[in-house]
Amino acid sequence: MKYKSSRGKYSSVSAAEAIKMGIAPDGGLFVPDHVPQLGQEDYRAMLNQSYQERACKVLAYFLNEFSAEEIRECVNASYNNETYSSEQVVPLVKINSTMFMQELWHGPTCAFKDMALQILPRLLSCSARKTGEDQEIVILVATSGDTGKAALAGFQDVPGTKIIVFYPAEGVSEVQKRQMITQEGKNVFVSAVKGNFDDAQSGVKRIFGDDAFVQLLHQNGMKMSSANSINWGRLLPQIVYYISGYVDLCKNDHIKDRDPINVVVPTGNFGNILAAFYARAMGIPIHKLICASNANNVLTEFIQTGVYDRNRMFEKTISPSMDILISSNLERLLYELTGHDAEKVSGWMEELKQKGRYEVDAAVKTQISQLFWADFASDFDTMNTIAAVWQQNKYLLDTHTAVACCVYQRYQQQTGDQTPTMIASTASPFKFAGSVAQALLPVEDLAGKNEFEIVAALSAYTGQVIPAGIRNLDQKKILHNTITSKEQMDKTVLGFLGIKV
Ligand SMILES: *Cc1c(COP(=O)(O)O)cnc(C)c1O
Repeated sequence: MKYKSSRGKYSSVSAAEAIKMGIAPDGGLFVPDHVPQLGQEDYRAMLNQSYQERACKVLAYFLNEFSAEEIRECVNASYNNETYSSEQVVPLVKINSTMFMQELWHGPTCAFKDMALQILPRLLSCSARKTGEDQEIVILVATSGDTGKAALAGFQDVPGTKIIVFYPAEGVSEVQKRQMITQEGKNVFVSAVKGNFDDAQSGVKRIFGDDAFVQLLHQNGMKMSSANSINWGRLLPQIVYYISGYVDLCKNDHIKDRDPINVVVPTGNFGNILAAFYARAMGIPIHKLICASNANNVLTEFIQTGVYDRNRMFEKTISPSMDILISSNLERLLYELTGHDAEKVSGWMEELKQKGRYEVDAAVKTQISQLFWADFASDFDTMNTIAAVWQQNKYLLDTHTAVACCVYQRYQQQTGDQTPTMIASTASPFKFAGSVAQALLPVEDLAGKNEFEIVAALSAYTGQVIPAGIRNLDQKKILHNTITSKEQMDKTVLGFLGIKV
């Protein structure tokens, strides 16, 4: 299996090269040149396998030049009983006869991004070795929350890498901030940036685009890379859990072998739902891929009309990890649905860049409406869903998963479809305790409480255990207290890396 760029200028790239490069030099995203098909014997074997064994099998299809031993090492170091609090890694919880929660947040930082960011650093380190890379890889991340901590935890002490995370001084929650500034590891660096997320992100982008800076790092034996979801090495591990979830549904007799299911995904950058699309393409019988958005509903409109239009107000919502107006991974879907028509895809992406808008052709529209269903939930709907599901099912949703749940309920009302449905549950409710507690507890119980006290109050009220990644966070030692201005971010990077100018 080789990889090619969705913009058409690179093909026959090995998996290791694609993972090391992250984004293709023509600005495109790397996509596998064909989608491998799972055979009947694969399913049968997986029924009795652990999550780790299933992961090895799926990854092997896409990582030809990795040995079975290398894949196993990456998988076992990422998903084990130190990193994951659940033996099954990704437990499946039955809510009612048609609704199943796939809990993707039992990793070290309590959000689904761990599923990919635990293993990406190891795949990257292995890819660097395989391609004869002699430079140290420096990962630069600007984060508005979940990604930063998950990337820090994943890269912690991974040989041949260093990681630097910038978070906006105004704009991450206290829990998120505390998770980052207490991060241990010899190769990790964290700094606040005065300003908001855009200030941090534009600062990082400027550093990536600064040739003199890149050169200076090169002279010091280092090269920069990114850990965001455009990297194939982040998408691939996500395909595994959709396949594994289907196998679990069969194994536990919730469905019969080859029965269809629906999948609902609370969506931001379109990475997670795209992984479900690939699982379907590999042979998992998925009837509908249900794309759930919050008030930033660009994707809802796109799936319903074929028009992608980012010219709208950015809304700050209570599901912040989905507050996105440009869903980068959509480019991969368009490339697949046009039968790898790089020219068409490049044209649409150019229109997006120039005008903030494009419209796909009728053939793509038809396929999208057959495969997908989409809607969005407001903050108000989200809060009501958290309260209703707690009252009816005693199941505690975080704000992102609640968006998915709300959209799924609407889907069922509008279509009457009774197909068993797996909802991607993307974060622990304790990670977004402020909003979750507000949906459930009387106002007077929360007045004057800080975030850590609210976490405790939510646990006391619901009887749910606070996950290890959040418990006692306020007592952990603060290890990073750098704060920088956006103009000084490059100097901060050099300082962290010990490079003198
Ligand atoms: C990142 C994130 C999402 C969105 O996933 P995408 O792959 O960007 O679509 C949803 N929920 C949570 C909790 C997240 O952290």
